[in-house]
Amino acid sequence: MLKLNFHPSGRHFLQIPGPSPVPDRILRAMSLPTIDHRGPEFGALGLELLSKIQKIFKTENPVIIYPASGTGAWEAALANTMSPGDKVLMFETGHFATLWQKMALRLDIQPEFLGLPGYEGWRHGVQADMIEARLKEDTNHELKAVCVVHNETSTGVTSDIAAVRKAIDAAGHPALLIVDTISGLASADYCHDAWGVDVTVSGSQKGLMLPPGISFNALSPKAIEASKQAKLPKSFWAWDEILEANKNGYWPYTPSTNLLYGLNEALDMLLDEGMEHVLARHQRWAAGVRAAVEAWGLEIQCLDPSVYSPVLTGVVMPEGVDADAVRKIIYERFDLSLGMGLGKAKGKMFRIGHLGDCNDLTLIATLGGCEAGMKLSGVNLKGSGVTAALDYFAANPLNPSER
Ligand code: PLP
Repeated sequence: MLKLNFHPSGRHFLQIPGPSPVPDRILRAMSLPTIDHRGPEFGALGLELLSKIQKIFKTENPVIIYPASGTGAWEAALANTMSPGDKVLMFETGHFATLWQKMALRLDIQPEFLGLPGYEGWRHGVQADMIEARLKEDTNHELKAVCVVHNETSTGVTSDIAAVRKAIDAAGHPALLIVDTISGLASADYCHDAWGVDVTVSGSQKGLMLPPGISFNALSPKAIEASKQAKLPKSFWAWDEILEANKNGYWPYTPSTNLLYGLNEALDMLLDEGMEHVLARHQRWAAGVRAAVEAWGLEIQCLDPSVYSPVLTGVVMPEGVDADAVRKIIYERFDLSLGMGLGKAKGKMFRIGHLGDCNDLTLIATLGGCEAGMKLSGVNLKGSGVTAALDYFAANPLNPSER
């Protein structure tokens, strides 16, 4: 049995698709003394943060920072824009899209849940043509928002948000576009302004490499206008008071000061490296991991290569193999945490996170743990995924100068 103070030697491999490993540099930044959140230093920090975070969302509009997990920011996006009984169109891409739809019901919103049927539906991204067709039918404009998940963390499938924007425009529909990129931000390309998103929801514990505990709403002018008419009850989540206090770098309540130190450090790390480079290394890691899955002779959860996730890869187990039993062996034998199959995918697959603070060798070790654990579990593998990924990484250096 594990003791509470159990601590194996070496570093734990936290390869779930978030929370992702927190770099030492960020941990150190968070260990500085907590300061007065009404004092002048804090105001300067707040203004700096609020300006830098816009670059990550690629927006010139305000970004709200909440001391809450991503679920809080989901609620905030709906509570600030909707009124009781409002109808919204949501798209079932996986477990997180489903949870968001359940939240809408609890908030007294009427979600209509479009999607491809069954478990197969969880192997594809949002179908923009289905959204366009539904919006064209809604001639009275009863649907107040279209809500989609950009990077479905339960499956490793992304969705084409620009195509959803186009679908809304092609239908000539005024619905707001609300997007969850809780696990996509800073690992998968995301363009809040250019894609015409009205509210983007995100969180700290994925591509931003922070511990859980901060989440975001990036806004558009249209969303801010909608918030002035929205009647769902809200107080803690209300954008108006936060936007007012943010003008001077403060919050209407006590913000999570030390997590904000960490966020400031994370933003420096990402912006100093350059977002293009950050996104390119995620694409490359994802391709290396997919090369491993292919060499093992296993299926990837995502069936559409145009929407493979750069954040995580879902590995489908052969018929009759319990993915959770394989994961358990991998955890116990190799101190490696992988994501479990959620909802309709439970027991069918496991998820390898390749987001945030990884490098080629952490991923090679991760794939080594997967390969050995699958062999121990009796999974029939066609070849070595570790060798395939090593070869891929060697043949595809990130910087052309290394060729
Ligand atoms: N949406 C997506 C896509 C997620 O991946 C998660 C968490 O993993 C959530 C929503 C919920 O966020 P949190 O667990 O931070 O509340």
